[in-house]
Order: sequence, then structure tokens, then C-alpha cells
Amino acid sequence: MDASGHIELDDAVRMVLDALSTLPGETFELDSALGRVLAQDIVAERPLPPFDGSAMDGFAVRAADVAGARDAEPVVLRLVGESRAGRPAQETLGDGQAIAISTGAIIPAGADAVVRVERTRRDDGRVQVLEEVAPGEQVRRAGEDMQAGTTVLQRGATLGPAQLGVLASLGHAHVRCASAPRVSLLVTGDELLAAGERARPGAIRDSNSHSVAALARCAGAEVLASEVVGDDERATRAAIAAAAHDADMVVICGGMSVGAHDHVRASLRALGATQAFWGLALRPGHPTWFGTLNGRPVFGLPGNPVSAMVTFVLLAGPALRAMQGAPQGRARSTARLDGGYDKPAGRAHALRCRLSERDDGRHAAPTGPQGSHVLSSMLAADALALIPSQTTRVAPAEHVEIEPLAPWMGGWA
Ligand code: AMP
Ligand code: MG
Repeated sequence: MDASGHIELDDAVRMVLDALSTLPGETFELDSALGRVLAQDIVAERPLPPFDGSAMDGFAVRAADVAGARDAEPVVLRLVGESRAGRPAQETLGDGQAIAISTGAIIPAGADAVVRVERTRRDDGRVQVLEEVAPGEQVRRAGEDMQAGTTVLQRGATLGPAQLGVLASLGHAHVRCASAPRVSLLVTGDELLAAGERARPGAIRDSNSHSVAALARCAGAEVLASEVVGDDERATRAAIAAAAHDADMVVICGGMSVGAHDHVRASLRALGATQAFWGLALRPGHPTWFGTLNGRPVFGLPGNPVSAMVTFVLLAGPALRAMQGAPQGRARSTARLDGGYDKPAGRAHALRCRLSERDDGRHAAPTGPQGSHVLSSMLAADALALIPSQTTRVAPAEHVEIEPLAPWMGGWA
């Protein structure tokens, strides 16, 4: 906690994570498990590939039979059968014999190598082999990809396209993953216009309902409801109580500050919520509140569109991932901050930046005006540069800590 009673971001994250518990798992059909967090270890029960197979179209042979074969002196073998993908040959290969084989087909018993079709000539029941092959050539061994008994995916892994492919290749039609945390979103403000609602003087469009709900979905949540409530304490209290009803997490945007029309904290207090912190030593994000209501995590995020997104990424996103059992500490890295940065001591700053690779390493360039209402600054950003609270000056091209945004935005940053 700093002198003004604001809590440092890292301490805030720790307090949030301490207040959470992991949700139980449920079984998902493979294709609906994209982006979910595994709630079981996956062990290969059988080797993959499951059998020795051919890497090429050609002829299965005994390497010893074709020793010394060359264009000028082909070795002639008798063709005795065919092994196709999914249709193994019935024959066993004997001395001086070949079996035609397709990529992915089982190596017939008796054969130990494959000659590529390009290095053969076929005529009437026979095949001329134009090059010698070593034993094992063009043969994919059983278990080369995954051996039986290997743990190929661990509980806590996030399932992307490659993971779904591996699960399918191991024969999993279903997989046990963490349930999607159910999030209720509440945005506050008399000035807010829903999409399609007629404009009126002083009103603005509600963007948080959409950007924050999308962030929640990108973090694996199911958004139960997204409600708008005016700046009225009674209505706010009723809306929070309703939002908390079936949710695993409540996220409220706006009305968190000290203005005469900010009613969220008083409403939370009246409902018996327990405050963990209010006031973050971070810009944007200063009036952020976190606590629990009936044991469920509640975030009170600032209403400014950039502040809401930034605080969600830094606090609520990690919370949702933790509730699904994903390990913490996703890839923070560093980059050189273009132009440097001066600021007063006291609060950390989160700058929207665009990353680029240059000869002297990775650079982060701020995306323009950094006001917490400048939502367009999020468009070009693919990272947040985190300038610590006590830092007053970052020299041009000095290294700063970077939180990549793509993982929080479904890869869309
Ligand atoms: P507040 O945190 O309620 O004081 O709001 C801070 C600023 O964010 C004000 O300019 C609000 O109009 C704006 N704001 C609050 N909620 C939203 C929202 N859902 N969408 C867009 N802007 C908002
Ligand atoms: Mg407001």
C-alpha cells in the first residue's frame, strides 16, 4: 500500500488470487473445448503412430534384397501384394519380393524399408528398384510421435488448435475441462445509451458492456447478463444483488469513484460485501475496487473505457484464468520504450503500446494520447508497458516491463 492508501498492482493481483477458488470441471465435447483449461492430465494410452507405417508412396522391401541397386543395375523384385492406408496387406514379404505401399499404410510383415515410387519402375508383376535403401528408410516407427504412457498434456493447459488435434489423435471425443466461470456484468451511468437507443443531449454510447464482456469471454467466461443501471443508489443495489445471483464473478463498471453520483461502493457495503481493496496505485485504473459478496469475487472497475479494459486485463482476466485452474504468470517480458517517459512518483502507469522487433531488440511505441477515455488508443495496442509507481523517468529506449495484450484479446490485439 502506498502513502495515499493505494495498493500496488502486484499486491492487488495477489489479493485477488487469494480470494478465489477453482471451479469444478465438467466434460466437454472436443470441438467445444477450444480455449478451455484442462481439468485432467492426458496420458497417451497407445503409441502414436500406432504401427510402423510408410512415410512415402512406393514399395515395401527388404533392404538386404536391394543392396547395390542403381539406375544402371536395377534389382528386380516380384510384386506380391499391396498395403494401402487403412487396408493392410495380407501377405508376408519373402525373399526377392516387394509389396506396393501408400503413405500411412502399415509396413507389411517381413519388410524393413520402403523405396520411393520415384526410384522404381513397375512392369507386369515385377518392380525394378533403382536405388538401395537402408533398413528403416521411409519407415515411421510406432510411437515416434507419442509413446504409450507419456503425459502429453497437463491439467491447467489451455486447449488451442494443436491440443485439440493431439486429443483427437489419441481418440478423445470428450475432455474434462474447467467449467466456464459465469460472469455478470453491470455498467452504471445515467449518460449511457445502449446500442440502437436514440441519442439524447449529454449521453454517450455504452462501450464497456461490449469490450469488457468480450474480454471476459476471451478469458474463458460465459457472460450471463450485461445490465445497465442509472446513477441511483437503490437501483444500483438491486442491480448488484440481481447480478450476483447466479454468477461466479460480478464485474461492475463505473460509479466507483468519490463523485456525488457514484453509488456502487455504498451499495456493495449495504449488501454486506467485504472490501479487499479500493484504490489502485495505477493509471489508468485508480478507483478500482475488489472484494467478495457472498463469497463470490466482485470487481468494481472504473467507467472510463480504457481504464475498464486495462484493469480487467490486469486483474479480472488473471482471476478468471485462475478460477479455471490455469497456472498464473503468463508471459510478461520487456521491451525498449520508444521516446522514454516522465511521470510523477506514486502510481504505476500502464501505457498502450505497439511492439516491434528491431536490431537492438524489441521496442514498444506508445499508441498516442493516453487519456483513459481515448478508446481508439486500444486499437493499435498489442501490449501494455508497465512503468512502476516509484519510477519518475524512463530514458529513451530503456527497458520496461511488458504485458502482451493478444492473450487477453483472443489473439485480436
Ligand atoms: P465513472 O467511472 O462512472 O465516473 O465514469 C467515468 C467516465 O467513463 C465517464 O466519462 C463516463 O461517461 C464513462 N463511462 C462510464 N461507463 C461507461 C460505459 N459503459 N461505456 C462508455 N463510457 C463509460
Ligand atoms: Mg458514472
